[in-house]
Amino acid sequence: MPAPRDATSGRCQRRCQLLLCGLLTLTGLALTALLTRQLWHDSQALHRQQFEHQAEEHFNRLEERLQVRQRDLDSVRRFFESSGEVTRSEFEQFVRPLLDDHLVLSWAPLLPIDAERREEQLEAFARRAETQVGSRFQLREADAAGQLHPLQPRERYLPLLFSLSRSVSDLPLGQDMASPGPRGEALEQALRDDRISRSAILRFTSGAESDRLGLLLVAPVRDAAILQHAGRNEAPLRGALFSSISLHQLLEKGQTVQTLNNLALELHDLGQPGSAPLYRLGTPAPDSALQASRDLHAARHHYRLVIRPTASFLAQHPLLPVWSVAVPGVALSLLLGTLLFVLLSQRQRALALVERRTTELQESREALRISEERWTLALDGIGDGVWDWDLIRDRIYFSPMWKSLLGHAEDEIGDTPEEWRGRLHPEDAARCQQTLHEHLAGRTPMYRCEKRLRCKDGSWLWLLARGKVVERLPDGQPARIIGTHVDISVRKALELELRQSHARLQGLLEAATQVAIIGVTADGRIRTFNAGAERLLGHERGSLHGQLLDPLLDAPRLAAAAGLAEVPDNAPALLAALLAPRQHRELDTVLLHRNREPLHVTLMLSAILEADGQLGGYLLIALDIGERLRTRQALEERSRLLEKLGAQIPGTIYQYRLYPDGRSCFPYASAGIREVYEVTPEEVRSEAGPAIQRIHPEDRERVIDSIRQSALTLTRWQQDYRVQLPQRGQRWLHGEAMPEPLADGSVLWHGFITDISSLKQVEEELRTLTITDPLTGIHNRRYFLEQLAGELERRSRTQRPLSLIMLDIDHFKWINDGFGHDAGDRVLQELCRRIGARLRRIDSLCRLGGEEFIVICPETDADQASHLAESLRRLLQDSPFAEVGRVTASFGVSSARPGDSRESLLQRADQALYAAKNGGRNRVCSEAEAVPA
Ligand code: GH3
Ligand code: MG
Ligand code: MG
Repeated sequence: MPAPRDATSGRCQRRCQLLLCGLLTLTGLALTALLTRQLWHDSQALHRQQFEHQAEEHFNRLEERLQVRQRDLDSVRRFFESSGEVTRSEFEQFVRPLLDDHLVLSWAPLLPIDAERREEQLEAFARRAETQVGSRFQLREADAAGQLHPLQPRERYLPLLFSLSRSVSDLPLGQDMASPGPRGEALEQALRDDRISRSAILRFTSGAESDRLGLLLVAPVRDAAILQHAGRNEAPLRGALFSSISLHQLLEKGQTVQTLNNLALELHDLGQPGSAPLYRLGTPAPDSALQASRDLHAARHHYRLVIRPTASFLAQHPLLPVWSVAVPGVALSLLLGTLLFVLLSQRQRALALVERRTTELQESREALRISEERWTLALDGIGDGVWDWDLIRDRIYFSPMWKSLLGHAEDEIGDTPEEWRGRLHPEDAARCQQTLHEHLAGRTPMYRCEKRLRCKDGSWLWLLARGKVVERLPDGQPARIIGTHVDISVRKALELELRQSHARLQGLLEAATQVAIIGVTADGRIRTFNAGAERLLGHERGSLHGQLLDPLLDAPRLAAAAGLAEVPDNAPALLAALLAPRQHRELDTVLLHRNREPLHVTLMLSAILEADGQLGGYLLIALDIGERLRTRQALEERSRLLEKLGAQIPGTIYQYRLYPDGRSCFPYASAGIREVYEVTPEEVRSEAGPAIQRIHPEDRERVIDSIRQSALTLTRWQQDYRVQLPQRGQRWLHGEAMPEPLADGSVLWHGFITDISSLKQVEEELRTLTITDPLTGIHNRRYFLEQLAGELERRSRTQRPLSLIMLDIDHFKWINDGFGHDAGDRVLQELCRRIGARLRRIDSLCRLGGEEFIVICPETDADQASHLAESLRRLLQDSPFAEVGRVTASFGVSSARPGDSRESLLQRADQALYAAKNGGRNRVCSEAEAVPA
């Protein structure tokens, strides 16, 4: 169970995701903070720079303005010093162009005053001045507050004589500029330094209220005449020029509106710390820390001009909106963090989904594999071959079972369609291709075709091909078809067998013209009616098909034949009653011909049972026994006749049947077989063995051979042979029979066998007489010649040696002559007895005539025969005969050579005997000795 590990891993991954997102967000926030801070600093610096720049410009203007006024005043001074006495109009004409920058320009001459005549001189000066200026001229001095007071006694006076202003109307002419106070201090400073000096800031005694506060520029004017000859310090003072400059004029005039709007000014007197500012212009913005200041010096006083930004400045030069960066930054960071979290979560979910899908896929693939395995096993188990045809690539997968169906190993069949097309039976190819195309074209729901494919061993295998298109392209073209091949060879064979059986059955039904075969349904309707039935019952099958069977049955007689107590009233009930409780019954009864005449038949009635045991119908087979009954009667009569005749014949008349397989029997044998073979006809009816066994062993092979020969040549069989009977012992039989070939290859003989034992006995006796020498009882010359012919024939087959020993009694005439002819006969008899006793059973001693004998020695070569002849010679020589004493004989021996005839062999024996006679008698002479090569 991997789930817990997955859960832990999932939690861990979620934590990592959160950490990562937090880090990203924090980094974003930090970057935003840094950026904001930097932006704030840069904004502040820029702001300060802009402010300082404007403040500096303001300071510079102030300074510049003071410089300009000083230069103006200096030019007026030089005018005075170069002009000598200057009138009021000259003064006004000169300074008028300069008035734009000066509030008041004034000339104050130095009054040379004697202490004693001070008042007088002051008075005189005032009167003179009045004429010069053309108005009341009163000498005064101003206090610190600007209030005018009468002149105080002092060393010198410099009262204002000429003053010109555009804005001030009540010019304070007569005001002494050397009076103590700021004016006096500035004058003293100017005189001391002999250059233009500035006064402390003071309050003017006249003029508009806005211009009352200001400062004076003081320029000492020396005597021009003296200056031309001496240094400046040596030239006496003529007076002083004054320029009144209001703070308003100085600080405000000439400044741009923008500067005045942007900057707020304050002028502080540094000599009076904590006091209110001397001058104030504009309102500084309360929340700005920006400030610029410049110290000013006038006479011995120090001032500080402080400049601050106004709200207007701040409005015009706003600090960069850091929030516009900070807020989007923070928002972006949070957004990025969130986005990352969402993405990671999505990814996590996607991964989880992929994993789940993968697991599901694996499970389904596993299930598919198991299913496919089961499917394949199932298909393999039931022996179906599977094929899978990729029609686009034109490749076919054949399952191992498919290949093994055709007897091929796995690697012996490739994956091209040729693998099956090439194996398709030519007779099935067109039909199969047509069926396949029909299905591929979508005209049939399934591809199904029975066809033959060639196996590896060249044989044809019947297969049922079934398949279905499982994939089609968007245009409907088939892309893939899967199917199976099932081995239907057994079914095909069964079908063929069934067809053949059906055909055979049909043929049988039609061929059985002598048998009426009627099939009926369980409800008694005729289903089958063969040609035999048509012939027997006179109906045409077409008219009877589906009709009731009842008209064909004679119900009362049927019921009677079957011993039924009641007669059922319809055919099905009658048939059921006839059969109950059997399934088959055979009875001789009658059926009704179309012309209502009864037909004697043997009726075989069978119930036809279906596979489920239900009654499917009945089969009636009727054999017309009318003819048979008549034939049987005739046969029975003939049989009786035959029996009677047979009983009169010595021996038996019989039929003997030899089957192709070698079996044989006596289908018929008359009662006489009890005599000739001592068997009953029944014992040999089906098996001839008991009779064959009776045949004498020496004759049995010959008899059987002769029967075979007769069967082969179909010629009359005729044989005499012996039988060994249990009761009557050996008997001679004579048989004769005529063979008749039967359709099944058997041969049937019709003939008779009679006992010829008496005849044979006579024959035998006659024969014995013909081959026996009556005197000696041994075989005569005739027998010898017959026997020799047989032996020579046998020798030619076996190549075994064969010899003759011919002997002739020496001087037999003497015995006759000496002892009488009868004694001679007895010698002959004794000799035969002796020699016969000495010979082997296979040797034959024969009398050729007179006192001449011959021995046939089979299996005996020349040496053995010579030895035997020698022993016979001694047998005669060594034991004297009862009446006549010693009897000797001469012996000639010959042995058979290839190509020998009886005569040639006998002749050489005769020659050898002749040689023995000539050689002195009582000796053995071989043919080699008699007839040297
Ligand atoms: P050799 O040694 O040359 O054979 O002299 P042999 O006397 O035996 O020969 P030969 O042929 O001259 O005489 C044979 C005699 O055998 C003549 C004949 O009378 C006699 N003979 C032939 N058949 C019989 C017979 O059946 N019984 C008797 N007793 N004698 C017979
Ligand atoms: Mg003789
Ligand atoms: Mg002789």
